[in-house]
Amino acid sequence: MTKNEMLKLLRNEEPILRAEITSLYTLLDAKFGLHGAEVPITFGMDAKALGSYTPPTYDEEEHFEFSLFFIGYCMQNQISKEDRINLFKHEYAHYMTRNIAIPSEYTWQPGVHGSAWKYCCSLIGAVPQDIYIEDASLQKIDYGQVLTRPNVDHAQVQMLDTYRTQKAYKNIDNSKVRYEVGDTVNHPKFGEGIIKEIEKLESSVRLHIAFGDEIKEIDQKWLFKTGFKKVSER
Ligand SMILES: [Zn+2]
Repeated sequence: MTKNEMLKLLRNEEPILRAEITSLYTLLDAKFGLHGAEVPITFGMDAKALGSYTPPTYDEEEHFEFSLFFIGYCMQNQISKEDRINLFKHEYAHYMTRNIAIPSEYTWQPGVHGSAWKYCCSLIGAVPQDIYIEDASLQKIDYGQVLTRPNVDHAQVQMLDTYRTQKAYKNIDNSKVRYEVGDTVNHPKFGEGIIKEIEKLESSVRLHIAFGDEIKEIDQKWLFKTGFKKVSER
């Protein structure tokens, strides 16, 4: 399949995905007296973020955006239906934080993914995590625990340390360069590409890949996740 054919297929999927999101948001709106289903939805091709909610600002219109790179039906590595629904709820929870009253006991943790957002997640059954973890939507969540302000005791501190350590290891793993300039890779959507430049970042590796005369920047970990192969091993 050529790149253009693939893009056309993805564009054709937009109405189906839009209907899926709108029907979910309509149900949630009815439950909470909100109007999330009326917020415009756009689709993009972001390879780094699955979705986003942009609140209304003086120079930007309020909208939801979702990446067909992850949710497109014709993508080889489309995320599961459960993860997709969770993604839609995740973004709806961001919308909710601006449109419902947050009880004061849930305002202790700041940030867009803080306790107010987690509280909204608990109301609609979204996974209260700000990063995408495959199949996390299948796990049972103890919202009571998530929403309780932690008492800092020894066990808790240790647990946080363990988490940080694991994260640090993961970052080291993600920043290990696995390709060389000049390597040819085969991308399920863009076809064959040649790595032109490798950028080593703190916790990731950004590859600049030429597909035809177009250069795309792709995070190496997505290359691995989607099983991009070197066309010829050196
Ligand atoms: Zn988020």
